[in-house]
Amino acid sequence: MNYVSDTQWIVERAKSIGFDRCGVVRAEKFPELAQTSEWLARGYGGEMKYLADPRRSDPQSVLPGGRSVIVCLLNYNTAHPLSTETKPQNDQEEPRGWISRYAWGRDYHDVLRDRLDQLVDSLREHFTGPFEARSYTDTGPVQERVLAKHAGLGWLGKNTLLLNETLGSFFFLGVILTTLELPPSLAANELPPPDLCGNCRQCLDACPTQAFVEPYVMDARRCISYLTIELRQGIPEEFRESIGGHVFGCDICQDVCPWNRRAPIVALEEFRPRVFPSQDEEQTDVSLSSEDESLLQPRLEWLAGMSEAEFREMFRDSPIKRTKWRGLVRNACNALGNSKLRRGTKVHARASVLLERLAASAEPVIAESARWALSRIQ
Ligand code: SF4
Ligand code: SF4
Repeated sequence: MNYVSDTQWIVERAKSIGFDRCGVVRAEKFPELAQTSEWLARGYGGEMKYLADPRRSDPQSVLPGGRSVIVCLLNYNTAHPLSTETKPQNDQEEPRGWISRYAWGRDYHDVLRDRLDQLVDSLREHFTGPFEARSYTDTGPVQERVLAKHAGLGWLGKNTLLLNETLGSFFFLGVILTTLELPPSLAANELPPPDLCGNCRQCLDACPTQAFVEPYVMDARRCISYLTIELRQGIPEEFRESIGGHVFGCDICQDVCPWNRRAPIVALEEFRPRVFPSQDEEQTDVSLSSEDESLLQPRLEWLAGMSEAEFREMFRDSPIKRTKWRGLVRNACNALGNSKLRRGTKVHARASVLLERLAASAEPVIAESARWALSRIQ
């Protein structure tokens, strides 16, 4: 077995499958993997109890006999404005919200799993002896970002995300944990890429909810992504206004990052904003008519007025399903409460009727959010 060319072969194969970058790292207990327990002890993980899984600090406990991790990176930066580039709405326009860029298209778990499966199939053809391989994309007790750093794919920025000098941070990470003994992409005497954040603190200053306790440390309980996706109950009052129009996640600390200014654009159809035409089949972001609904700056009335059955149907292959119907309607009500609706306008009248209806919902979280929104627009 020619170890060096084997790793090169894997990297090339990953690229031919469509990944933008690939690296290999030993399945080791890197020091950053142990930092989560202290972070959780400070309460910063909120209700995300799954993060306490002790296997997260040791890849070999996830796959006994695991020797190597193949880390793959897939760019999702489609050609659309950043959340920080959208123009403010006036009080005559239909209020619109913001969905995080990664969630505009097809569920990335599925997209990456398809590609990782292809890579594992290729490994099985290439390596004749028996070996085990398990793939993860935010789906197991694996800290992909840390492994990616040690595979030479970037540095962990002050916004806590992996940054790549060429690609910025709009990418997904998928890993294959394997019992194959593969030489790491970085030689024993090579360090991971240097931290290029320097004196910059744009992400820290731009965060609307001051979620960064200090550079490189985020209190997830304050992060809009956590509040709009992970949190199941009502959004704490102190954050409701700062959340603005965000209805699923937040991109601000990536949108302001200088390393994303020149990040390459991808044309992958899977990640383009989905459009739900009024009549025809679902499509991606072409020829949007005034009747169609898009996940790029979606109409808040559309989201808030959606039934649970419609939500299930529309988002069954979308990352948005994670927040569940009541979470999305709660978030849409919150955003309506933050919109610039003016009494006497048609949009205000319509939104009021909708919110009155939701205020009588049997779902306490929805009813309470709708009442809060009504109190803000009346
Ligand atoms: S995602 Fe938004 S709320 Fe969360 S840390 Fe970044 S800027 Fe702050
Ligand atoms: S905005 Fe600046 S400090 Fe924050 S991650 Fe990007 S380069 Fe680093």
